[in-house]
Amino acid sequence: MAKGAINRLKTMYPLRNMVDQRYQASQDAIKQGKPVAWCMIDFGIATPFLEAMDIATIFPENYGPVCAVNGVVGGFLDRATAEGFPNHMCGYCRNCLGYSSIMQEIGEVPPQAPSGGMPKPALLMATGRVCDAHFKTFQAAARYLDSPMWIIDQPQPGEIEALLPGSYERDVKYMVGELKEFAKFLERLMGRKMDWNKYETIVNGRIEVNKIWYEINEMRKAVPGPMHARDFWSSMSAAIFGGADYEVNKKLFHDMYDEVKYRVDNKISAINFPEKYRMTFYVLPPWHSLGFFDKLAERGWNFVIEEAYHPPKPRNLQLISDPVERSVRFCIPGLGNTIEDNFPEAEAADIKKEILKKGYSHRLTVKQAQDYKVDGALLQPLLTCRAYTLHQPSISDQLLKMACVPSMSVEGDTVDVSLFDPEAALRRADAFEEQMDHFKEVREKGCVGVAK
Ligand code: SF4
Repeated sequence: MAKGAINRLKTMYPLRNMVDQRYQASQDAIKQGKPVAWCMIDFGIATPFLEAMDIATIFPENYGPVCAVNGVVGGFLDRATAEGFPNHMCGYCRNCLGYSSIMQEIGEVPPQAPSGGMPKPALLMATGRVCDAHFKTFQAAARYLDSPMWIIDQPQPGEIEALLPGSYERDVKYMVGELKEFAKFLERLMGRKMDWNKYETIVNGRIEVNKIWYEINEMRKAVPGPMHARDFWSSMSAAIFGGADYEVNKKLFHDMYDEVKYRVDNKISAINFPEKYRMTFYVLPPWHSLGFFDKLAERGWNFVIEEAYHPPKPRNLQLISDPVERSVRFCIPGLGNTIEDNFPEAEAADIKKEILKKGYSHRLTVKQAQDYKVDGALLQPLLTCRAYTLHQPSISDQLLKMACVPSMSVEGDTVDVSLFDPEAALRRADAFEEQMDHFKEVREKGCVGVAK
């Protein structure tokens, strides 16, 4: 078989298969009379309660790209539009609402649904994280599906507020209280008790899996980059969304660790072409058109890292006796701890002062680009996602001014293929390579950041 442009990790495939297994597990659950919950992304803070109660979890946000890849997203988006949802609203969420509306009409999984579809939920678990769509969508979906809904509220302080004395401890206390209320809600809804031993095993399993996942990503600083962003995206589901046996997950990520380490030790690249440009990607990728990255790999663009979905740096949390608090401190490390964990003491103190004075520090933005020695950044402004788009011009500006790393923006959408034009983007690649060559020389001579 001819080699592709990207040198895929063999250990990625079983992790990738877990995406399909999740849909299968939800269909098996229904056949066995077990409940299924539709969930918004929670980065592991709330789903362990569902898993401990033996409730299968499924994520409509993830299902959007599955529908897009299988070419059926248009029907669900059209249905959402016909129901009155504006087309500038989140593509993931419109897909979910179109699906829910059809499900209500026919009383079963829509026939065009890929991977067996999402079965009717026993409950909807919304979150208050990142954007309003994470709970507004389920408020609407609950009316189609006639399902109970719970919102996991989560404080999201601004950078200055996050560093104020006592702020982090207040957030932790609030989240622990919120999650314990969620546990009580589940007990009432299911008419049975939470299995707290199982919950703690799941929390610890998640922390261990993410520790290996973190270490794998650290190895990606090597030159040539040993693991492409496509392999990261293909395998991240098992680390972020859990849902499977954590011993199995651990074994699969250990296998991936060994394969990436072998590549680092033997200088094996993630692309089958010379690594001319080390790249990073912001923020949500074009899931429906990932073949685009193969075309870029042919030009020597190696996406050695990406900005989103990374686990926090591992911290010793075993002394926290309450597993709910342990989980909260793992999932929400807090801005102060994140700065202290990633910078030397004096610099960390300096960064905090800078944030308290002007509201942000460019050093947080450019650190990854510098650590992974990237030559350029590809950004994707998303027409239907304000949360991950509004800050992109500022990222671009900071990368260029403070790290001498240029970036290229390619507009698109998470699910709507018609908004992404890979051919137009490829036509701009020559000019962007000239920019990357120029700034490589600038960095070699010593990049002098322009302080703002
Ligand atoms: S963050 Fe963006 S893509 Fe995710 S649910 Fe919110 S609007 Fe949609």
